[in-house]
Amino acid sequence: MQIVVVGSVALDTVQTPWGEAYDALGGSATYFSLTAVRQAEVGLVAVVGEDLPDSALELFGQKGVDLAGLERTEGKCFRWGGRYHADINHRDTLFTQLNVFEHFHPKLPESYRKADILFLANIHPALQMEVLEQAQKPRLVAVDTMNLWIDSARDELLEVLRRVDLVFLNDEEVRQLSGRYSLPEAVAQVQAMGPGIVVVKKGEHGALLFDGKRCFALPALVLDQVVDPTGAGDTFAGGFLGHVASKETIDHDVLREAMVRGTVMASFATEGFSVDGLRDLSSEAIADRREELRRLTSWPDGSA
Ligand code: AMP
Repeated sequence: MQIVVVGSVALDTVQTPWGEAYDALGGSATYFSLTAVRQAEVGLVAVVGEDLPDSALELFGQKGVDLAGLERTEGKCFRWGGRYHADINHRDTLFTQLNVFEHFHPKLPESYRKADILFLANIHPALQMEVLEQAQKPRLVAVDTMNLWIDSARDELLEVLRRVDLVFLNDEEVRQLSGRYSLPEAVAQVQAMGPGIVVVKKGEHGALLFDGKRCFALPALVLDQVVDPTGAGDTFAGGFLGHVASKETIDHDVLREAMVRGTVMASFATEGFSVDGLRDLSSEAIADRREELRRLTSWPDGSA
């Protein structure tokens, strides 16, 4: 398996200034896998309840996500509720219901244990660790997390960080985790915790890549219509790691292009509720948006 992801498959209830969705398909592993699978073979490790609509399983199947690691059990799916305001970089979490995740212990199918890339998507760090311990020397281990775990499961998170190569964090999380305000200082602190590669997501303001001492910055696309930013971070990670999986070596240039893929894919996720922006996405639309990003970020050499 090229990429194995562990994370949430959820039913989300989301309100934004542009509308709302109730019990719609979401979850960190959902957005990630539906995106990464465009460039690599992806196996999904998660648990869902009896109330997951069949249409969700059909969607994963139709897109080619391997579901051998997806457990379906008695009880209700993980549920998350959030509300966004006009400033879409900030959201309030209204509720988090672990439900079937409460007693979940991930088991990696044999075919997942030699994964080339392991992505520990946002979920309790203890579960991330259980998956990490079942994998055999992946080429790259990447992790995502959130303020909730930085606050409530810091020691477990630090243990995970010691064993990973790359971490995705937003700017608030990198400051919260490190206790430093200056981003370069905060990132250096996080790198000292384990991961040499730190990707700092700044929502509609783009993302920064810190690869050892090298840094690369990319703005987000300027979109006419943002409908729901939920899942943009996981979609970014899907585009990013999907690209890395498709390359034999992981060098700085590959990581820069991965930033481009992540940025392009995340832009589509924000244009609809749930996974609607990712459902019927053509390769042409992705290539066009990559060009749009290139035009947005290039300028003539020399003085004009
Ligand atoms: P993002 O907008 O990229 O941060 O991801 C949002 C997704 O993360 C939503 O679809 C939620 O279902 C999921 N999510 C929110 N809180 C948690 C949590 N505590 N554990 C796992 N997944 C979560």
